[in-house]
Amino acid sequence: MSTLSAAADTLSSRIDAAAARVERSVIAHRRDIHQHPELGNRETRTAKIVADRLRALGIEVQEKVAHTGVVGLLRGGKPGKVVALRADMDALPVTEQVDLPFASKVRTTYNGQDVGVMHACGHDAHVAILLGVAEVLAGMRNEFPGTVKFIFQPAEEGAPEGEEGGAELMVKEGVLENPKVDTIFGLHVTSRYPVGELAYKPGGMMAAVDSFKIVVRGKQTHGAYPWLGVDPIVVASQIVLGLQTIPSRQLDATLAPSIVTVGAIHGGVRNNIIPDEVEMIGTIRSLDAAMRNDIHSRIRRTAESIATSGGATAKVEITTGYPITYNDPGLTERSVPSLRATGAKNVHLVNAVLGAEDFSFFQQKVPGLFFWLGIRPPDQTPDQAASNHSPLFFIDESGLGLGVRALSRVTIDFLNAR
Ligand SMILES: [Zn+2]
Ligand SMILES: [Zn+2]
Repeated sequence: MSTLSAAADTLSSRIDAAAARVERSVIAHRRDIHQHPELGNRETRTAKIVADRLRALGIEVQEKVAHTGVVGLLRGGKPGKVVALRADMDALPVTEQVDLPFASKVRTTYNGQDVGVMHACGHDAHVAILLGVAEVLAGMRNEFPGTVKFIFQPAEEGAPEGEEGGAELMVKEGVLENPKVDTIFGLHVTSRYPVGELAYKPGGMMAAVDSFKIVVRGKQTHGAYPWLGVDPIVVASQIVLGLQTIPSRQLDATLAPSIVTVGAIHGGVRNNIIPDEVEMIGTIRSLDAAMRNDIHSRIRRTAESIATSGGATAKVEITTGYPITYNDPGLTERSVPSLRATGAKNVHLVNAVLGAEDFSFFQQKVPGLFFWLGIRPPDQTPDQAASNHSPLFFIDESGLGLGVRALSRVTIDFLNAR
């Protein structure tokens, strides 16, 4: 064995040993945070746990970044590159139905409604894992070059109405500067894969999510005399079908999948009155940046041209949401051996999904890699396991240690690489 691979071997076993040592506290943190979930921009208790823990590890702490965010800075023994690691902290307005001794009983008011609060997306596990990584890396700080920036982010699921938040606001507030971040890593727990497995995809991994509103204006008339007006319901129906031809007939289906969904249509009040106006709202999912812009202009053209052909008008408003979660292909290729070195049972190359993640805002500024961590109990099939955002979402905690090893490993290997 060469000295280099012997050194790598020692490093690997040291990370594994340190990760094993922190596993109990990772699970304890996860249970505590699970039992006390907080909605986006309200993660004050969680943020305090994080800040206190980082300080106890001798990590420099900055609080109240993007409302409740916490940023920790761990300087290694020598100067070098800067790696950021991100965990999101927010829970969802979901009433927990899992039978656990530490199940959430928390309720709050959300958009004027009384709701349960639950870590139904597993962000409790993300926080706990990243605290575990902080402990592992703090214990090795003299042995790696460079700096690790721990980003504990609020409001990944979206800020409350009228507020800014999440990754976008953190970037705006300069979280990737001082010191300037070279690369960023993050993970998400998922019940699509069993414990012990990791999954990744270079390039577009999760979709950009944009929403649209189309208001079709016709001319009101009696339902028995449509020729005296312009029927916006018939025009809107044609627009719905026209929009479906954008992904299926107008875009290169071999390049990347995309979706245009009309989710609601409102117009009219009575069976025999043709209304003045119909309003439609919907969502757009895309995995390629150029295609994303193209879809937007095709939606406008389709809606406006069909409306014109029927003597109506269509006003199209498109609101951009989260960008594409885009894994830098070079970084992904370099990091996969580190993921494999964790001893994971399986490290899959997987297809993209059309869900979205605001980790994408960081990746717009610096190359990043986001990957999946399996937490499905081994005795369940994918169909049996509740998905993220379900009141039955369940995490097999024996999968969390692999998350600690994976993030620690990609960080150390990136910092050590020449
Ligand atoms: Zn979620
Ligand atoms: Zn999530």
